Amino acid sequence: MLILENQSLKHLNTFGLEAKAKYYIEIESEKELIELFVTPKSILDNALILGGGSNILFTKNYDGLVIRYIAKGIKVILEDDESVLIKAEAGEVWDDLVSYCVAKKYYGIENLSLIPGTVGAAPIQNIGAYGVELKDCFELLEGYFIDSGSKQTFMRSDCNFGYRDSIFKRELKNKFVITSIVLRLYKKQIFNLSYSALKEELKNYNTNELTIELVRETIKRIRKNKLPDPVQLGNSGSFFKNPEIDEEKFLLIHEKNPDLVFYKTSSGTYKIPAGWLIEKCGFKGRRIGNVGTFSKQALVIVNYGNATGDEIKNYAEQIRHEVNTKFSILLDYEVNII
Ligand SMILES: Cc1cc2nc3c(=O)[nH]c(=O)nc-3n(C[C@H](O)[C@H](O)[C@H](O)COP(=O)(O)OP(=O)(O)OC[C@H]3O[C@@H](n4cnc5c(N)ncnc54)[C@H](O)[C@@H]3O)c2cc1C
Repeated sequence: MLILENQSLKHLNTFGLEAKAKYYIEIESEKELIELFVTPKSILDNALILGGGSNILFTKNYDGLVIRYIAKGIKVILEDDESVLIKAEAGEVWDDLVSYCVAKKYYGIENLSLIPGTVGAAPIQNIGAYGVELKDCFELLEGYFIDSGSKQTFMRSDCNFGYRDSIFKRELKNKFVITSIVLRLYKKQIFNLSYSALKEELKNYNTNELTIELVRETIKRIRKNKLPDPVQLGNSGSFFKNPEIDEEKFLLIHEKNPDLVFYKTSSGTYKIPAGWLIEKCGFKGRRIGNVGTFSKQALVIVNYGNATGDEIKNYAEQIRHEVNTKFSILLDYEVNII
């Protein structure tokens, strides 16, 4: 176990931004993690847990300890006729886990295909796509509190999962290292095709022709068509969360914008696609210097090559300001800004 100093994080964030970690460590096992907890408290108190860096914007060097938990492993820990419990170590690549489950025909996470990042980060914002969220098949996770070194299990109800949200994105941010998660997946063919883009792509197939592989390949195709590949164009996926507004505000906006796209939630509020709001403010495909909004999806901010984190943040602030001026809605960041 070796703590490195002044380590570049450029290849560890999908925006491709240059930022240095004052201290940096890769942890390969729970044993090593426990050993790390003897490090002086002054260093541990200022830790940042990093996975694949696909939901992080570095606006500066990190003046503390960056911890990457890279242990890998996937195994079935319990199985009956209907379902399996799969345990995956936090350092696994999320999409490798999906690929494994699809190959074994374990149903439940195929709609989450191709989401970048690690298994350990998946609960942080309760990753979601195409009508499915991690919480739908989540059983529990394990990890360690950095301050006390104590191990804890969090069941689903302990995690306060919400839309792109959890207790780990709030109270426990950078306080708790997730080391593994357990998911319950199904052996029976169950698909979630509620999302319109997915339904549309699969409309020519009969139900008996649908397979888990076909659903995964379709999701991958939709995503590749819609989202920029971070290897070619630095980005962190959706930069903002879709806002939820009350009926009064919704009616005001709808009156002026009959083409408003919305989704009524069970609590009576209205969810509006942030991409629609941003596009209405003229940002879709706009570029200012090294930063821009992706031409096919206004929710994605891209680095055209040499942007700094500050430039990206300023561009995002400009979007927030204009959306707020036009619609009186202040967008929340989905990305973690450092
Ligand atoms: C092209 C693209 C498309 C995307 N599409 C989606 C999508 O469809 N749906 C979606 O939900 N997200 C999407 N994202 C966002 C991103 O992929 C997810 O948020 C992913 O879970 C981040 O994983 P990561 O390992 O890269 O986390 P990082 O970016 O490294 O970290 C994210 C957060 O998790 C914390 N963290 C990471 N690992 C741990 C750990 N082991 N223990 C405790 N805390 C930890 C970090 O401190 C940080 O706060 C997309 C991103 C990109 C670039």
